[in-house]
Amino acid sequence: MQSKRHAEVVGGGFSGLAAAVALAQRGWSVTLHERSSELRPSGAGIYIYENGLRVLEKLGAYEEAVKGAPFAHTREMRDEHNRVLSVHRWDPSKRVFSVVRQRVINAMANAARQHGVEIVLGSEAIAATPDGELIMAGGQTRKADLIVAGDGVNSKLRDSLGLVAKRKALPDGAIRVLIPRTAEEMASGDGGTTIENWSGSRRILYTPVSETELYIAFTMLHSDEIGRRTPIDRDTWKRSFPHWADLIDRIGDDARYDRFEYVRLKTWSAGRVAVLGDAAHALPPNIGQGAGCSMMNALSLAYYLDREKDMATALRVWEHNERPLTEHTQRISVFLGLPTTWPTPLRRAFLTLAGKSKWMIAQRTKTARHVPVGTEDMR
Ligand SMILES: Cc1cc2nc3c(=O)[nH]c(=O)nc-3n(C[C@H](O)[C@H](O)[C@H](O)COP(=O)(O)OP(=O)(O)OC[C@H]3O[C@@H](n4cnc5c(N)ncnc54)[C@H](O)[C@@H]3O)c2cc1C
Repeated sequence: MQSKRHAEVVGGGFSGLAAAVALAQRGWSVTLHERSSELRPSGAGIYIYENGLRVLEKLGAYEEAVKGAPFAHTREMRDEHNRVLSVHRWDPSKRVFSVVRQRVINAMANAARQHGVEIVLGSEAIAATPDGELIMAGGQTRKADLIVAGDGVNSKLRDSLGLVAKRKALPDGAIRVLIPRTAEEMASGDGGTTIENWSGSRRILYTPVSETELYIAFTMLHSDEIGRRTPIDRDTWKRSFPHWADLIDRIGDDARYDRFEYVRLKTWSAGRVAVLGDAAHALPPNIGQGAGCSMMNALSLAYYLDREKDMATALRVWEHNERPLTEHTQRISVFLGLPTTWPTPLRRAFLTLAGKSKWMIAQRTKTARHVPVGTEDMR
């Protein structure tokens, strides 16, 4: 009889936690290392579409993750005068939730603990070898049948294996915050409408994420030094969006700026090390699928390791089957970000067209409509 296989997972974000649960569900013993002293994701809120929601269901984290979150149904694109350029209504047969990130992470961490995953906080890994050795920041080494590198866009594990084919800083970035909803906003009852409002190359994304909280994302060119300043420069944002002045005044000082990045690897694995999530395929957030792809690829990794007779075959089949959809998602996300640097009339024409074109909508929603491997038996 085969003895219990052991995985060392690095990173307590969407990809690391999803992989840890999916492996533990299939009988692996799993230790997860998170360098921070708590599981605390940056980024405030997040959209999770049907594909990611199916994975959360399979991991046993769905109910807790979306509890109290609004079912998103409509996205309005508006211009600098607050005029509606296009309205997209999501297909009601495909779920979309806008959620507080911390809730999703807590739900996956609880599922992980229930399945016996050992979560070690304040534990930083710095490198891995193809024969399954994990090197920790303190110099200790740990052996595993499988190492999962879910350590994010700046992945030390990935870099220790020289796997990067392309890494590119993109021209734009975002500041994301959560703020309390006012009594009036809560009373309005419409938690399902997202507003994407453009003014020049700046954008405000307004999203209710719980009964009591709003997720606000400010996006701008990286070259927009005042726009990306934290705490946010309220005056400059109010000049761009006078109709949002009250909202901008409610933004607190606790904010962080992240530049968007693109990552492509030569291969998604090296020997016994599999690379997941932003470490493998970071992408700009224009269709909200970075975490969705991370979780799908985590579940499918565990699925193929269970199904195939040996690890090398499993990792090869995993990458062969999963990479094309991930790369489609990256291409569309990058494409939809191109107009950020264009002159306003051109950008407006593009956004209006992209919001209405059936072909573009089909490309944009392809990932959300995909049935992830390992979830086919669900309704
Ligand atoms: C502005 C913006 C908006 C976005 N919106 C969406 C959205 O709506 N929907 C969506 O699906 N995606 C969205 N994304 C993308 C999504 O946030 C990422 O794809 C996702 O967080 C990737 O998860 P991850 O686990 O791979 O990496 P991370 O979330 O970065 O997690 C990595 C974890 O590893 C830990 N770690 C790092 N290095 C080490 C180490 N050496 N040792 C131990 N631990 C380590 C970190 O502390 C962290 O906890 C957005 C991204 C941005 C920038």
